[in-house]
Amino acid sequence: MRIEDLISTYSYAGDIISAITCFVLLVLIRQALFFTTENDFRQVSKAIRIVMVGALANIAFALVVTYMPSFTTFVFLTRDVYHSCLLWALFLFTIYMTKLVGFPANKFNTLRDIMGIIVNIGVIADILSPITKIGFYKNDGLWYDSTYVKPFTVTYIICMVFIAYLLLGYRKRLIKQLRITFIIVELVVAAVMIVENTMDSNTFTTSTFLIPIIAVLILVHSKPFDLITGSMDKNALASFIKHANKRERNVDYVILEIRLGDMRELPLGLGRILYTTWQTYFKNAMLFNYEKGIYVMAIRRHGASDAAKARLYSLVQEELPIYYRDYMLDYKILALHDVDFVKNLDQLKDIMTYALGRMDYNTSRIATEDEIERYSKMEYIVEQLQDIAEKSDLNDSRVKVYCQPVKNMHTGVFDTAEALMRIEIPKYGMIYPDVFIKIAEQKKIIHFLSRIIVNKTCKALRQLLDDGYKIERMSINFSLDELRDSNFCSNIIDIIHENNVPEERIAIELTEGQSDSDYEIIHDRISALKKYGIKFYLDDFGTGYSNFERVMKLGMDVVKIDRSMLIYSLGDKRAWYIMKHFAGAFKELGYEILFEGVESEELEDLCVDCDADYLQGYKFSKPIPVEELWKYLER
Ligand code: C2E
Ligand code: CA
Ligand code: CA
Repeated sequence: MRIEDLISTYSYAGDIISAITCFVLLVLIRQALFFTTENDFRQVSKAIRIVMVGALANIAFALVVTYMPSFTTFVFLTRDVYHSCLLWALFLFTIYMTKLVGFPANKFNTLRDIMGIIVNIGVIADILSPITKIGFYKNDGLWYDSTYVKPFTVTYIICMVFIAYLLLGYRKRLIKQLRITFIIVELVVAAVMIVENTMDSNTFTTSTFLIPIIAVLILVHSKPFDLITGSMDKNALASFIKHANKRERNVDYVILEIRLGDMRELPLGLGRILYTTWQTYFKNAMLFNYEKGIYVMAIRRHGASDAAKARLYSLVQEELPIYYRDYMLDYKILALHDVDFVKNLDQLKDIMTYALGRMDYNTSRIATEDEIERYSKMEYIVEQLQDIAEKSDLNDSRVKVYCQPVKNMHTGVFDTAEALMRIEIPKYGMIYPDVFIKIAEQKKIIHFLSRIIVNKTCKALRQLLDDGYKIERMSINFSLDELRDSNFCSNIIDIIHENNVPEERIAIELTEGQSDSDYEIIHDRISALKKYGIKFYLDDFGTGYSNFERVMKLGMDVVKIDRSMLIYSLGDKRAWYIMKHFAGAFKELGYEILFEGVESEELEDLCVDCDADYLQGYKFSKPIPVEELWKYLER
């Protein structure tokens, strides 16, 4: 064909509108309708930029052909840039879809490399077509462009077939609505391409590359604004925090909790007030609707910390509370200033729960440094605990076994001991159980910590026995929740066996639970372990929920009377009387009695009077590192 025939069916409109659309999308991305932090998302925004270059290249191609047809090199060059851009954008899109459908991670890298090679071969073959005469080339002053057998089209078809395979082959992994939408979009796009190719036109080719990308943006990444308050949703907040962190931006947060009760939505007027307040008060603020009635305003701070704090102060203390008079909805307003350790939504949630929980309704304040310090210490501890659990090392040096020798009243010597956990971490040193046990339970890492304690206790026991010390057993504390784990028994027994320690040298201390739920399971676990000879101690008797019947049914061996009972008995004859009778009843039923928290001679006398079997307390020894226990034992 003659050169002017190349664009006889071409209209600039298609590429101009594609380039403009790309530009607008990029603006939207900057304005936070979408966030660029999510890794996969960056592929999408890169693809948009590449498509934009492609559209411009095709416009350039048409211009060159029209106004300077004799510049053959430019004709090829613009065409090559155009085709390469489209293929690379398609490559990014293909990779993105591969991730989206949850393609197995271990095969992902290989697949990406293969697709990369295929696409780049396509690109090179396309560039070489003037030489190979396959595709778009010039011969004897005439131009040729084959309809289907050209590198560009072949590569395009391979990618489309692969995407179709992903959508159909992995259909279970992609939620139905997404899958169907993508299939419809791809079908439409393929139809346009076929029509275009058949008509030897490429007016709308670029837009067929853009349309699936737009679909992805809307379906997967859009963060719509609430039109009344101007807020975005919780996912947007999560992305925002990650984004701010990556860029090491300073962010202040204002958290507004409004008790909406049965009301389903924020009253319209209040929503508008919220909108004007945050829009006019801070230039760099964004508002998020964390959940019903909880709004989080994030303020990106560039300037001095003090000025920002003053502004926060007036907003929190003066501006926002005014509206309470008009709406009579209970509120809490909390500002977080300088909280650079908030690295993800979970952490923000934790600090919100922590700080809001300590506030009364209809109060507002800036979280104190002390509070944030305490909280960030807690966060650090949790990180360390999680790290310990992840590393899964039964000898982790951060977990320490301390122990407290227990005096046997029948023989007058120390022959058992209770193992007590501590963790020693960088920055804060030794941390005691009252700080971390609860949180370790909540985060479901307690059992791993316990296994480390069992391992280290067994090692110490083995050593003591080998060195000829007389030690009957060591008791280890467990949380009731751990027993629900179906592997509980084997986990414990395995460690005991690995350390070559006789099972009867290990005892388990349990505190009674509040509820009857899972009573059966706990009962079963205890029976299973008792068969091995493991002894059971009931911890903290006399606090909370002690229940005679259950003590008996659970098959405990030793009852540990809590220190609080001792203390009561010291000043109150009746309390003493009750304790003595409890102790007597247990003994008659065949249980052994241990008194804990014996700090003084006076308390010891009380216990002796109750016919105690074992005594434990500061009077004899504080908890000591297990390596020093030998000092208390007989050989
Ligand atoms: P607990 O099982 O009642 O342990 C006894 C606690 O009382 C220990 O505190 C011990 O240091 C303290 N104590 C001992 N003698 C006296 C005394 O004469 N006077 C006073 N006032 N206190 C005394 P610790 O080591 O801080 O442990 C606190 C709690 O943390 C333990 O209470 C136990 O419930 C829990 N805990 C400790 N280690 C572990 C563990 O490995 N796993 C689990 N799940 N919980 C543990
Ligand atoms: Ca205990
Ligand atoms: Ca206790």
